[in-house]
Amino acid sequence: MPLIEVRALRKTYRSTVAVEHVDLDVHEGEIIGVLGPNGAGKTTTVECMAGLTRPDRGTVRLAGHVPWRDRRQVTGLLGVQLQSSGLQAKLTAREAVAMVAAFHDAPADPDELIERLGLGRVAGTRYAKLSGGQQQRLAIATALVGRPRVVILDELTTGLDPEARRETWELIRNVRGSGTTVVLVTHLMEEAQQLCDRITVLAGGRVVAEGTPDDVVARSASSTVMSFTAPAAVLPADVLAGLPGVRQVERRGARLEVAGTDDGVLAVLRVLQERQVEPAGLRVSATTLDEAYLALVRRPDTDTAPAMEEIS
Ligand code: ATP
Repeated sequence: MPLIEVRALRKTYRSTVAVEHVDLDVHEGEIIGVLGPNGAGKTTTVECMAGLTRPDRGTVRLAGHVPWRDRRQVTGLLGVQLQSSGLQAKLTAREAVAMVAAFHDAPADPDELIERLGLGRVAGTRYAKLSGGQQQRLAIATALVGRPRVVILDELTTGLDPEARRETWELIRNVRGSGTTVVLVTHLMEEAQQLCDRITVLAGGRVVAEGTPDDVVARSASSTVMSFTAPAAVLPADVLAGLPGVRQVERRGARLEVAGTDDGVLAVLRVLQERQVEPAGLRVSATTLDEAYLALVRRPDTDTAPAMEEIS
């Protein structure tokens, strides 16, 4: 049984449908990424998981408990760092962790945790004086101090420089290594690729893709991009456009760019051979998670939710 099970979740705010029919499983020991553009419903989904928001419809279970109702049980199982940490600017790092520890029955030792997260030297420094990376580490410390089975981290590394971001990723790997399940809300594809065992992509409040980051790329409409130089006179773009597995053909001067599946690449190579066209500067590359993500969430009309794409 999944540690967190979300089924047919719906939540509205007045006339805004924040999430609609969201299904999501989180298994013990996983790092799960929740991705999507601004307003996609990521925070609403994790707030429902944490019991901070009550769903209008559908069910959420955390280790069998209903998060919004079974507050006491869920508080003991879950650590949450949401977008605004709410930490008082005047509290020191140690005071902030000790304060949150006081809400839990069997908390971790705040000083040990602060050391473990590399905040020992700034334990007596006020929150407002910490660097962005240190503030994020402190947010992780407050989420972990109750010894949760699962921790929800919302846009943890937004605004951090690349080094601080990588350090935070290492920290999250360690958190998982010590047995804690992680739900990570992120806008960063590299973060998802580096950290997540599985991702759920939301757009317009609906799930548009689910699977391992590699699955999501492989199942995207165009998993491969090839480009080569061939003059328009010998190879017009429309010859390739109708081939099976070819999704998009674009000519930029003498250079052709073809996006599609692996079968599409083979079909293009066969046409080149038949026409005895030698593709100069041939390059074939896999679509990145960034590209697959953009294709999934790009919508012609921003008011319209994209169609559900069955890729799992
Ligand atoms: P972001 O990446 O910008 O944080 P998100 O994917 O987390 O976005 P949500 O914050 O869940 O998206 O918001 C989903 C939709 O619900 C948005 O249209 C948002 O404006 C709306 N919404 C969220 N919370 C509330 C609220 N408390 N009151 C009214 N509308 C809300």
